[in-house]
Amino acid sequence: MKIANNFSRLGTENAFVVLAKAKKLESEGKEIINLGIGQPDFSTPSHIVEAAKKALDDGYHGYTPANGTKELRDGVSRHIKRMYGAQIDSNRVFIAPGGKPSMYFAIMMFGEPGAEIIYPEPGFPIYESVINYTGAKAIPMYLSEDKNFSFNAEEVLSLINERTRLFIINNPQNPTGGLIEKNEIDKLVEGLRKFPELVIFSDEIYSRQIYDRKKMPSFFYYPELFNRLIIMDGWSKTYAMTGWRLGWSVWPESLIENVTKMAINSYSCVSAANQVAALVALEGSHSFLNDMMNKFEKRRSLIVDGLNSLPGIRCNKPGGAFYVFPNVSKTGMNGDTFSEKCLYDAGVAIVPGTSFGKSCGNFARFSFANSYENIEKALEKIKKIL
Ligand code: PLP
Repeated sequence: MKIANNFSRLGTENAFVVLAKAKKLESEGKEIINLGIGQPDFSTPSHIVEAAKKALDDGYHGYTPANGTKELRDGVSRHIKRMYGAQIDSNRVFIAPGGKPSMYFAIMMFGEPGAEIIYPEPGFPIYESVINYTGAKAIPMYLSEDKNFSFNAEEVLSLINERTRLFIINNPQNPTGGLIEKNEIDKLVEGLRKFPELVIFSDEIYSRQIYDRKKMPSFFYYPELFNRLIIMDGWSKTYAMTGWRLGWSVWPESLIENVTKMAINSYSCVSAANQVAALVALEGSHSFLNDMMNKFEKRRSLIVDGLNSLPGIRCNKPGGAFYVFPNVSKTGMNGDTFSEKCLYDAGVAIVPGTSFGKSCGNFARFSFANSYENIEKALEKIKKIL
């Protein structure tokens, strides 16, 4: 069998590998606390679940337009207006099965041999994987621990040249929980004026998971970029709906036909009943979100203080999402060995830093999408093995 060569360049998402290892240990009777997981440990709010059930009863069984129903696209447009005050025509809204397809389609649209694409490192592993798959050159934009995983706009701008087609940014970030503040993004946007051909892809999937009463520094605040800006967000993290597979993105008008073709060529459309429920999610009560964030806030303090009290571990306080990305090098182990030891000796599943970029060997990602009690227990168990 001869499969296409570019498959040898396709990567993966190691969090799923860790999950499989943890499940195997559990099936052998071991108790595992899973801090490897990248999804809220809450149930989808019941009014959203009920809306999906009702939609199926009401006969939402068929295909929908490939870019999403008009009702839902209108709803996303209203949501953007409420959140950021931006006026986005719903023809520019694209509904997809999760955030990932929009990311994949954007990279496929701009990546090819000879092109360069800038992506964050540490970063969500799919960016680099798909860039490599297209044959484009993957150019890391390093986010350093000493800048609390933010960047210096001037340094970032120096990575851009005439071959750069796409610039990927994720804020707040996976895996670091880092939040790049608006003043740094202002500087970046100012510098981007010099590169009018460059397209920006802003992954804002954690837009509602921000701490310390800060405002989401969204790219929706920069209308001067709208003709070359793709913004991705979705339902997965905000509404605890990762398994529903529902995401949205906003595209420049000139690209929407292309991305819709990508959908038609692959999955056709998102489940009709899910789209009905997705609108209810956007327009219904959001009180659960306060409850979720209150819980995340308490766990954030617990895990940051707890990790910093362990010998050899240094942990920044994240500004968003539900991850911490401590440096473990002073334990005498690298992130890979440390993560293995945590799993097999302490029964705590975490994801090694190298899953998020070659330069992240000293780090490991802990998710605090687990109960306060389990995080306390996990910290105790790790203390014992150090
Ligand atoms: N972008 C980032 C930064 C993520 O962390 C994730 C999921 O972990 C996604 C996108 C994918 O989201 P979805 O599950 O909606 O495809």
